Amino acid sequence: MATQEETFKKLVAHCKEYGFVFPSSDIYDGLGAVYDYGQNGVELKNNIKKYWWDSMTLLHENIVGIDAAIFMHPTVWKASGHVDAFNDPLIDNRDSKKRYRADVLIEDQIAKIDEKIEKELAKARKRFGENFDEELYKQTNERVKEHVEHRDTLHERYSKAMNDNDLAELKQIILDEEIVCPISGTRNWTDVRQFNLMFQTEMGSTADGAMKIYLRPETAQGIFVNFLNVQKTGRMKIPFGIAQIGKAFRNEIVARQFVFRMREFEQMEMQFFVRPGEELKWFEHWKQFRLRWHKALGLGDEKYRFHDHEKLAHYANAATDIEFEMPFGFKEVEGIHSRTNFDLSQHAKYSGKKMEYFDPELNQSYTPYVIETSIGVDRMFLSVMCSAYKEETLEGGDTRVVLNLPPVLAPVKACVMPLVKKDGLPEKAREIQEMLKFDFHTNYDEKDSIGKRYRRQDAIGTPFCITVDHDTMTDNSVTVRYRDTMQQERVKIDDLHALIQKAVDPKVLYRKIVGK
Ligand code: ATP
Repeated sequence: MATQEETFKKLVAHCKEYGFVFPSSDIYDGLGAVYDYGQNGVELKNNIKKYWWDSMTLLHENIVGIDAAIFMHPTVWKASGHVDAFNDPLIDNRDSKKRYRADVLIEDQIAKIDEKIEKELAKARKRFGENFDEELYKQTNERVKEHVEHRDTLHERYSKAMNDNDLAELKQIILDEEIVCPISGTRNWTDVRQFNLMFQTEMGSTADGAMKIYLRPETAQGIFVNFLNVQKTGRMKIPFGIAQIGKAFRNEIVARQFVFRMREFEQMEMQFFVRPGEELKWFEHWKQFRLRWHKALGLGDEKYRFHDHEKLAHYANAATDIEFEMPFGFKEVEGIHSRTNFDLSQHAKYSGKKMEYFDPELNQSYTPYVIETSIGVDRMFLSVMCSAYKEETLEGGDTRVVLNLPPVLAPVKACVMPLVKKDGLPEKAREIQEMLKFDFHTNYDEKDSIGKRYRRQDAIGTPFCITVDHDTMTDNSVTVRYRDTMQQERVKIDDLHALIQKAVDPKVLYRKIVGK
């Protein structure tokens, strides 16, 4: 059995080999944590974006979209707090010259202790069988007790240091825990420094007086600064939402795990404006709605969990992550935050413009509160790929790599293949492709054996292969081969459209989400 790490490596290689994701500037050996999407990747990514966009703007008449520019007035980032506080604590190892996030080094250390505890518990579970009382064991077994105490003290010390922004204490924890650099194996650490994650550039020529501007680190601020524009021109009534999909940039200190942590990535964010006092009700609503959106794809309900934040950002009064079980553990894919009226108030303060809403029902003006749902397109892409990638051994010992992608997201919905390259079969196959191409993204393939052609389609997750053979010329039927079951069935050409449509129809998912 391959370990999860090996499988993940294979997935990354598969993404490159089959045109899903390439390293950026590949011929120059790539650029750290920047990736390009290939011919299949971009289709899958676009399908994810459409599924999100429509679930916001089609299913809700009170949610509209915008597309704000990446460049924004620099004061936006002063007001939002990013200039002063969008930092990560970094530390360098003097021997390997490698840079790390101090918080991540400590969190990994905590995770290691957790693993030790779990190992002990697993052993005991096996030994004591059904009668095992986990809580009692934790309190009485000396070794486990020691680990638990160590973990709790460390966690408390770490949380306090983070809350107090105490960089010297973060370093001291790393020293006290004897954390070593994974590359050099030494404890030769520099001091911990704050590192701002925003990329900067200059706008205008120097003669004009160039202005320092930032590449946006989140798309949300484009929504906040357009709150009044949209509310007034769209005659929006509270509660209402503004949705946006767009690029964001963060100069991540340690970028790893493929498209999980990139320096240029894409976000799908929705800010929902509500009456003050009603935010926690809406927070709960959006938590549940977003979980249903994920689950409707059928990747496996058990692969999701909420992770409520203990430490809240200074502007938030509730926050949770939706985590997905990746091969490297449960990881955040989406954040849902109750951001109070912090952002609108800050922009009102810095711009001098009133960012208020007159509520005709209450006959009063107020600064709305905001619930945000924020999901990374690339992390969503990765979770879909991780759950879809399968290596299967077939009867007779053959193997295949198949992507069990939800059909609605699959880059190619069907591939049409003539059994042989003669007797008018290619022409017939082309005719069928012509018939389908206005509604579905299709491929045509006449090269190699049918078996090889099936494998190529399995590897990119195409749900249907349609084979034209000699009988087709007389009975107007084709053989449809299903990706997941590999079963084959004779289908009338006239019924093909409906068969594919049924499988890739997003309406089925939307109904699941809204419970109809
Ligand atoms: P993390 O703790 O993993 O750095 P975050 O809490 O900073 O993430 P948010 O600021 O809440 O992330 O951003 C919202 C979403 O944007 C995340 O849930 C994630 O899906 C996505 N995202 C954030 N940073 C990156 C990145 N560097 N690469 C890819 N996606 C990202």
